[in-house]
Amino acid sequence: MEKSEFKELKKQLLSTRKNGYDCPVDEAAIETYCSGYKAFLDAGKTERLCAAQTVRLAEEKGYRPYVRGMALKPGDRVYLTNRGKAVLLAHIGRRSLAEGAQIAAAHIDSPRLDLKPNPLYEEAELAYFKTHYYGGIRKYQWVTIPLELHGVVALRDGSRVQINIGGDSGDPRLVITDLLPHLGAEQGKKPLATAIPAETLNLLLGSRPIGGEEESGRVKLAVMKLLNEKYGITEDDFTSAELEAVPAGRACDIGLDRSMIGAYGHDDRVCAYAALKALLDLEETPEKTAVCVLADKEEIGSDGVTGMQSAAFDTFMEDLCESQNVAVRACFEKSFCLSADVTAAYDPDYADVYEKRNAAYLNYGVGLCKYTGARGKSGASDADAETVAYVRRLFDEAGVIWQIAELGKVDAGGGGTVAMYMANRNITTLDAGVPVLSMHAPFETVAKLDCYETYKAMRAIYQAR
Ligand code: MN
Ligand code: MN
Repeated sequence: MEKSEFKELKKQLLSTRKNGYDCPVDEAAIETYCSGYKAFLDAGKTERLCAAQTVRLAEEKGYRPYVRGMALKPGDRVYLTNRGKAVLLAHIGRRSLAEGAQIAAAHIDSPRLDLKPNPLYEEAELAYFKTHYYGGIRKYQWVTIPLELHGVVALRDGSRVQINIGGDSGDPRLVITDLLPHLGAEQGKKPLATAIPAETLNLLLGSRPIGGEEESGRVKLAVMKLLNEKYGITEDDFTSAELEAVPAGRACDIGLDRSMIGAYGHDDRVCAYAALKALLDLEETPEKTAVCVLADKEEIGSDGVTGMQSAAFDTFMEDLCESQNVAVRACFEKSFCLSADVTAAYDPDYADVYEKRNAAYLNYGVGLCKYTGARGKSGASDADAETVAYVRRLFDEAGVIWQIAELGKVDAGGGGTVAMYMANRNITTLDAGVPVLSMHAPFETVAKLDCYETYKAMRAIYQAR
C-alpha cells in the first residue's frame, strides 16, 4: 500500500479526535465566557447563593417569576425558584410542548461541611463549631485551609437571617486544625480515609475569653456574643439553621498559560453556568421550549424537595403544559434532557485508576457519558445508541468539540448524576459535562476550553429543531 493511500484510509476509517486547541477555537470568546463563569462562582458558593445569583442574571435578561396559571406565548421567559435552593427556567418555544421540551439539568450544590444542629462548644478554652460533611469529601483535604461560613438562620417568627463570615474582603476566616508532623507518626500510618475522623472536622471560632477567671465557657460565650451582636441570634437558633463551611478565596486562572480555572465548586456549577448562560443568551425564540434545571441535593442522592427526584420539576412542567392543554406525560416522552454534570479528567499522576482509551481529557471538549454508575453500570440510566447518535449529530452540526468517556477503570469505582431521575420520568437523557481534575476537592481544576465547549453544547441542545 502506498503511503498516501494508507494515510487516506486512516483518515477515512479511524477516529480523529484531537486536542481542542488543534481545532478552530475562538480564544477571545473562551476568555470572556470564563470571566463570567469565575464571577458566577465567586457570587454563589452555596446552593442558596448560587440560586440567588441565577435569579439576578435571569432577571437582567428579562426572565419573570412564573406564577401558576400565567398565560404563556412563544418567546416568553419565566423562572421558578424552589425554596431558594433550586431554580427552573423556561424559554417558551414556537412549537407546542406536546412535541417535547429541550432540557439541560445541572446541580448547584457542592460538597462542603454543614454545621450540626448543636454546633457550638468550647474545649480547652477554644470555641468550635461541630460539622457534618455533605457529599463525598476526602476529609484530609479540608484541614488547614481557610474556610468561610454561609447560610441562613430561620427564626421562630418566620424571619430569616443571612450569615456570611469570611465572604467579604477583610473578614476573618475559619479553619480546621491538623496534627503537626512531629506528633503525627501514628496518624501518618493510617489510610487516608480514616486518618482524619469526621468528628475532628471542627471549625475553630475563637480563643479570647470574656468574664472573670472563675467563670467557665468564657470563649464560647464570647463567640455567641459576637454572633448575637452581628446577627441577633442565640444558641438555640442554630437548631433551625443551614450553615455551610466552604473554602475561602476566589476562582482564579491556573497555569502559566492561564488555560485552566481553579476554584471551589466546579462540580457542578461549571455545567450549571453553561446551561444557564446558554439559555439566557438565546436571542431567538427556540423551536421547542428550552428548559434549564439547576437542582439541589445531587451530591447526597437527589432526594428531598429541592432535589431532582422532587415533584417540583414535574409540577413546573405540568403547569407549563397545562397552559397549552398538553398532558405532561405526552411532553416528557418527546423531550430530551442533557444531564449536565462533570466527569473525571484523566490525571497522569494517578494513571492507574483511569482506562486511558476511555478517559476524558482536559481540552478535548465536553465529555459525553453514555452511562455512569458503578459495579457494572449499576445506578446508571445508560442512554441508548440512538440517543448518543442524536447528540453526536447535534454537536457536530453546531461545531462543538466533544469527547466520550467513562469515569475511570470499571473496577476502580464510579459515580452518579441526575440522569437516571430524568430518564425514569420517560425523558430521553444523556450525560455530558466538563472534565475536572481533583473533583470534590476544596479546589478543583477545569480547562477553559472545555467550559466554553460545554456552553456551546447546551446552546445546541436548546436550539435543536
Ligand atoms: Mn456533579
Ligand atoms: Mn459531585
